Amino acid sequence: FTIKDLEPFPKSFYSEPDEVKLMTDDEVEEMRLSLGGIKVKGKHCPKLITRWSQLGLPTDIMNLITKELKYDEPTAIQSQAIPAIMSGRDLIGISKTGSGKTISYILPMLRQIKAQRTLSKNETGPLGLILAPTRELALQINEEVEKFTKQDRSIRTICCTGGSEMKKQINDLKRGVEIVVATPGRLIDILTLNSGKLISTKRITFVVMDEADRLFDMGFEPQITQIMKTVRPDKQCVLFSATFPNKLRSFAARILTDPLTVTINSNNLVNENVNQSFYIEDNENDKFNRLVNILDGFYKVNKNITSNSEEREIDEEVSDKKIIIFVSSQQFCDLLYSKLENFGYFPYTIHAGKPYQERVMNLEKFKTTTNSILLCTEVLSRGLNVPEVSLVIIYNAAKTFAQYVHTTGRTARGTHKGDAITLLLPDELAAAYILKRALRERELSSIDPQMVEDMKQMSERFESGMKEGKYKLSKGFGGKGLDNLDTKREEKQ
Ligand code: ADP
Ligand code: MG
Repeated sequence: FTIKDLEPFPKSFYSEPDEVKLMTDDEVEEMRLSLGGIKVKGKHCPKLITRWSQLGLPTDIMNLITKELKYDEPTAIQSQAIPAIMSGRDLIGISKTGSGKTISYILPMLRQIKAQRTLSKNETGPLGLILAPTRELALQINEEVEKFTKQDRSIRTICCTGGSEMKKQINDLKRGVEIVVATPGRLIDILTLNSGKLISTKRITFVVMDEADRLFDMGFEPQITQIMKTVRPDKQCVLFSATFPNKLRSFAARILTDPLTVTINSNNLVNENVNQSFYIEDNENDKFNRLVNILDGFYKVNKNITSNSEEREIDEEVSDKKIIIFVSSQQFCDLLYSKLENFGYFPYTIHAGKPYQERVMNLEKFKTTTNSILLCTEVLSRGLNVPEVSLVIIYNAAKTFAQYVHTTGRTARGTHKGDAITLLLPDELAAAYILKRALRERELSSIDPQMVEDMKQMSERFESGMKEGKYKLSKGFGGKGLDNLDTKREEKQ
């Protein structure tokens, strides 16, 4: 092939709406986190969308999605993969089963196909090709495609799989089709029929490999490579899979052109070894009392342990139980310090208002003193090399996921376990939204059910506020902070 001899075709249809354009990089990063950790690799990926209306879809498709199928909003993979594919990019989409991968490629594919020159009398098509590993899957995908094409005579689809009638498939193909959903084996059979005259891959401009990990496991790699050799090299090609093993990675690198990789991190971003909990308190006063209560309880338990001389010997290392209390501002830091003094607690304090030397000294003392407490602003603690602590108390609830993940990550390093407690006020809705997404079932079940219920309601208020445009997740760390986090994770693994 030389591309210049091929008929040009359009690939790029997405125009970013203003509300998306206005999102800062930090906001995008925060939204990606809040949707379960969307990770993007590759250059110039469009920002994610959060509403169907942002995609500029035709009215009949919009109605189908929102009114008939009643999909309220795009799933995580859809929110990032659809704008990327609609901009004409090759894409690798990794997301667990049931996360809505199918329409992530169907919607952009239909858009692309409908923009191509219609098939002429002597052309058979297809324009779009979807490869799936099994017959059942191909049928299921075909049904999904038909939901979107049933009103539209300009798009005919057919499912070509082994085990179903070859004759009927051939007859349908002869009449011309826009989309073929097939298993690789059957497609090769059909392509070679009539010495290759039955259908042609010449007009294919969009290729999907769905459940690519299984395609690979079932040994379809040679067939797919063979098929791809006959398709124009500037086709748009996307690959979706629940897992992305290394062998699939190198295969994808051979087949796709400058792809974006979108991975939905279905694991909770908060370290497994951190036990999260929270309290909702009516006012600042109650919140402070709660803090003292937690500190008293924590050290009383510890005193019991360390007063037992035998256990002390065994548990020398973990018997040093350190606490960090995170606050949002310098003022809070100073205020809290003087209040804690009255209760016999003398935390080491670090914030930007203190001279550098004093900060360094306080950090050093915190490190070397047993059962010490560090009181610091969240901002200043970011770059610090703070030692392993047993308990993190988030005194001023986190406003972003990034912040929450980082602060809770100050405990339970390596294989150690740790606790993270957030103290919330009733109007801290964004924080409730974050907690709702971050806390696991087992953690929720050990928290006062009324408090869990209150937290959920606060979270719902925040969500509906976001939909109305009243609330927004405030800006997070931006890409950098998270990159660091990822790097650290990967190093650990
Ligand atoms: P996957 O391919 O990732 O396993 P599917 O595309 O088969 O997932 O979708 C799983 C289910 O979720 C299907 O029943 C589908 O109709 C439904 N679904 C897809 N997108 C949405 C959405 N945005 N909102 C609600 N349900 C959806
Ligand atoms: Mg699927």
